[in-house]
Amino acid sequence: MFSHRSSIASLLASFRIEGRTLCYGSFVAKLYNWCLALGFTPGRIIPSRAFCSDESQGFPIILLAKHFAAFPFNHGRVGGIVSVERHGPFAEHGKDLVLVQASHVGYDPDSGRFGLYRRLHTEHACMTASCGKIGHILQDYARELDYARANVRLTRHTGRPALIIDNWLLTRERREGLFLIPERLIEAAVGERLPEPLAARSTGLIYAAAQSLVDRLGAAAWPPSGSEPIGTRLAPEDFVYRRPGLDAHDVQHQLERNLLAPMPWILTARHPYLSAACANTQAEFDRTYRSLAREPAVQGKNLLFVSGLNIDISPADGETFPLTRFVPWAAYLQRAEGERRLLEQDELWTELDRQPADNPDQIDLERAIHALRRGREVEISL
Ligand SMILES: [Zn+2]
Repeated sequence: MFSHRSSIASLLASFRIEGRTLCYGSFVAKLYNWCLALGFTPGRIIPSRAFCSDESQGFPIILLAKHFAAFPFNHGRVGGIVSVERHGPFAEHGKDLVLVQASHVGYDPDSGRFGLYRRLHTEHACMTASCGKIGHILQDYARELDYARANVRLTRHTGRPALIIDNWLLTRERREGLFLIPERLIEAAVGERLPEPLAARSTGLIYAAAQSLVDRLGAAAWPPSGSEPIGTRLAPEDFVYRRPGLDAHDVQHQLERNLLAPMPWILTARHPYLSAACANTQAEFDRTYRSLAREPAVQGKNLLFVSGLNIDISPADGETFPLTRFVPWAAYLQRAEGERRLLEQDELWTELDRQPADNPDQIDLERAIHALRRGREVEISL
């Protein structure tokens, strides 16, 4: 998905959020009505969800149950990863199939910050990271970026712009971590090959700065004497992360694998948690679409797969649930007769937008639960 570095920035930028958010109730009603417009049979549609295990994702699940009159099948793993090995059992449970996948991000309306969510059930209703699983992964990578930003320093050597680069960042013995892309920073570097340094320091080497770097930052960025950290001027194109220990077949590593290549862009974005959630949704849509297209169990069935982003707006005092918004990203439609169609974000938005936001088929959950309490007695015989 993010295998070509040159395309990562444009792929991330293509995930539009402004003007593309729906309140969750409206989204699920429109989704249901779209299914009917596609010829899905009311009462024979089984929904499924691939959401993070975070309790904040409960409200969207309740709405799916309410509008589709069936509790959604669980297709998800922590972080919003799709369990693609569950397509077979899911397909057996309904005539027509709907799968919604979403990565999620918290939002604090008071500060305007993404990545935070108010946990009303903690002792002091404190804010914690959301998605916490994504945040846990970002922490380690952010620490390495902080180190690189502090230990690539702008200096002058005989008056010319140069860089002092810490030995740890240059060492080739490391197998994993943050690796600088020498060509972007050092004059006369070719690929991984470094030129002779201009001078050595106790913990680093001095190289002439690449002309492209001088052009990018401007020669005035270099201090007349001494040195200063490159800091946030280290661009996402200047470095890469490697983690050879991530097992391609271990589903526990899927989230980190999804985020590895775009990580430099995620961490340097204005809202890293938001960018990470978008990147994960993009990667999971691509991976899940391919797995569905070749899955024998869903052939000959109507299937609608929608991916997007759940933005969890923290609940205020007295509110039971978050004000979750949905941002649709892409969809895959596979009809029983064989038609297959991919919908990009704008097409998906248009399809949802044209559907009514009310659903007369939605059930009254309270009444359904009440009816169960007053329902028939069934003896379980052993
Ligand atoms: Zn989460």
